[in-house]
Amino acid sequence: MNQAFSFARLAQIAEDLQSAAHRHPRRVSAAVLTLLAGSAFTAFGVAPLSALPDVAPPLITQIIQPVTSAALPEQLQRLDMQSLTLFRSDVTRSADTADSLLARLGVDDAEAAAFIRNDPLAATVLQGRIGKSVKATVEDGQLRQLVVRGPADTTSDIDTHFTRLTIERQTGAAHAGFVVRKEVAPLDRRPQMGSGTIQSSLYAAADDARLPDGVTNQLAEIFGTDIDFRRELRKGDAFSVLYDALLADGEPVTWGNVAGRVLAARFINKDKVHDAVWFQEPGRKGAYYDLTGRSKVRAFLSSPLAFSRVTSGFAMRFHPIHQTWRAHLGVDFGAPTGTPIRAVGDGVVSFAGQQNGYGNVVHIQHSGDRTTVYAHLSRIDVRRGQQVEQGVRIGAVGATGWATGPHLHFEFKVGGRQVDPMTIARASESLQLSPLALGQFRRMAVDVAQRLNMASEQQTAGAATGPRFE
Ligand SMILES: [Zn+2]
Repeated sequence: MNQAFSFARLAQIAEDLQSAAHRHPRRVSAAVLTLLAGSAFTAFGVAPLSALPDVAPPLITQIIQPVTSAALPEQLQRLDMQSLTLFRSDVTRSADTADSLLARLGVDDAEAAAFIRNDPLAATVLQGRIGKSVKATVEDGQLRQLVVRGPADTTSDIDTHFTRLTIERQTGAAHAGFVVRKEVAPLDRRPQMGSGTIQSSLYAAADDARLPDGVTNQLAEIFGTDIDFRRELRKGDAFSVLYDALLADGEPVTWGNVAGRVLAARFINKDKVHDAVWFQEPGRKGAYYDLTGRSKVRAFLSSPLAFSRVTSGFAMRFHPIHQTWRAHLGVDFGAPTGTPIRAVGDGVVSFAGQQNGYGNVVHIQHSGDRTTVYAHLSRIDVRRGQQVEQGVRIGAVGATGWATGPHLHFEFKVGGRQVDPMTIARASESLQLSPLALGQFRRMAVDVAQRLNMASEQQTAGAATGPRFE
């Protein structure tokens, strides 16, 4: 049997067939035939659940046999009547209650719902971040086991570990009811490839390619100086990305912005090809380089707001736009109050406080007579005289001063004159690899370029492919 055709997959198919049988009997018969035609399996073979440590392989009742089309109606009836162990997967949603979650998993079990509501540890399933992965083992509609995988409790572990919560029905008479246990386990990493084509937006294309948001955000950062993702994306632009997928018990992580590092990526914007490869030269911090070995890190970021699903939806406007405040020039970034703001380059805070129309404002003095201004902040996280590094958080978006709604008013001045921040970021100085490292880098880059070529060829050949394991 094909390995990808796993036990869990088969169980899911059987289950889908069973529920669909009530709605579309004819279509299901055809589906069953298709399934059986090419395969000789006589049962849902008990494939080892080795990918799921600490989960005892459940006993499985044989539920499908090779049948002829004439026997199908009878067969489907038997499926209904026999004791059936099913596996269902889903993710937690923001409005979930114990009942709604169990209902989506096909579980009709008041006792299980009550346990999840009332047991303090079990109740954490519905607390904290949404998007936790939930797997239920269901027997005759009753919950036998619920395994919930979610983020580690401590922020520092969030990229390396996950939490596994197991709720299990006790079967012995003396131990009726449910028990719950919590474990912390390390995440695994596996290189994975994804590619997509822009139809409407970057995040829509990333969703089609089933890229985690954390990977999409990295793409926007890596190519942030090459491509203005707010103004320059075009329909038909395409990307391919090789990244370290994070796996919890063998399954891709589904929660939050947690994602492994992008190892290499290509972005084709308006027919221009941009490449990036992660490389760490001994004794230096790792960084992204183009295929010639030029660092993609510049002295200035193109935007004081990190690009994300949230901030990507807001417009960016050039001044002057206010009726009431014509004199001030700069760029407005719409964003929700509280969105973190970062210093676009290394420098020294020359002002941090209130200033007429600017409200709460931070000024940073950079080298080469360059200054940046960040206004209307809801909070300020730096003080005058403080040294700041590029990317460090200096405050949060607000609507203080002369602002009609929450946004960041941003100015970039060279010698006191306003400039386009994107132009400055593109022109600013970048790191170059040492000659020794460059040789090593080039050999690796050839291999990476080949992979990216293959991925973009497949992409332009038509199908928007989801991630494929390498
Ligand atoms: Zn403004």
